Amino acid sequence: MKESRKKRILLIGTGGTIASEITESGGLAPELTTEELLARLPAISDICETDCLQLLNLDSTNMTPAHWLEMVRCIRDRYGDYDGFVLTHGTDTMAYTAAALSYLIQDSPKPIILTGAQKPIGFDSTDSKTNLMDAFRCAAADLPGVSIVFNGQVILGTRARKTRSKSFQAFSSINFPHLGILRDGVLLRYIRQDCGGSPVFYETLDTRVSLLKLVPGMGRDLADFLLARNDALIIESFGVGGLPEHGGFYSCIRDAMAAGKIIVLTTQVENEGSDVGVYHVGHALKNELGVLEAYDMTTEAVVAKLMWILGRTKRRAEVERLFYTPVARDILWPVE
Ligand code: ASP
Repeated sequence: MKESRKKRILLIGTGGTIASEITESGGLAPELTTEELLARLPAISDICETDCLQLLNLDSTNMTPAHWLEMVRCIRDRYGDYDGFVLTHGTDTMAYTAAALSYLIQDSPKPIILTGAQKPIGFDSTDSKTNLMDAFRCAAADLPGVSIVFNGQVILGTRARKTRSKSFQAFSSINFPHLGILRDGVLLRYIRQDCGGSPVFYETLDTRVSLLKLVPGMGRDLADFLLARNDALIIESFGVGGLPEHGGFYSCIRDAMAAGKIIVLTTQVENEGSDVGVYHVGHALKNELGVLEAYDMTTEAVVAKLMWILGRTKRRAEVERLFYTPVARDILWPVE
């Protein structure tokens, strides 16, 4: 019988705790290279063949949309040479990067896996080794598209959020089931995604997208400030969604719409999403003012999706159409 060849996986290092060591000037900072990371996990050679590429070495707090585009170019240029990709990344902004890569690399039949750790690989108690091994297992499986593999869970790139700042269970899948889990090194799939097609790469983003979290009693000043400097404003409102009837928000939105800005209403509540039409405080926003709503999308995905859409078009009707068109199962309700 013909022996199946081992999968070829490219490990792309971008930094984060997983690659961090304690610095002389104080605090953890990414210092280890991808080669040094791999050297601590010789068992990976049982799973796949691996090449290493050190793209960045950043605390992910310092990550910007320009870095997302660097990752896209890095994967695009090597897409034909590998069966899958593992990106090591800091956990703090990993959910934003996962969402951004989901819009910038669509319909990838090959796995693009992000992972990292809450504790550096050199610490006695660390999640780095398990996460890295699991990430390689997933990259060598037929798990198409962008996902985060962390603490034994596989989370769709458009659905991830960092929900714990310290414990190993750092990420949650928001308003969507896990794609699968890893138990004792075996990937158990809950959801099987379509694997066909060829990838589409995008290379432009409009970063003039801002986010405002409402607090009770807030007026329009901050919204005006952000709208004057950006093409889109996402407002994280309360509950299923609405805006205070005091404070001038409605006239602020009318002015912004007239100036061609895009406004998206979402919710501060982590689970179950928005439903802006339910209450009087939200009804007019959609029906009369033309505000978009995020429904079950994560805020991370809304930020990345707007940057991707506005990098392609500024035409309101087209922005609206693309916003409500599902990409990598980022929005399910009530669209599908
Ligand atoms: N500050 C680190 C980062 O996001 C945290 C981590 O990796 O867990 O790069």
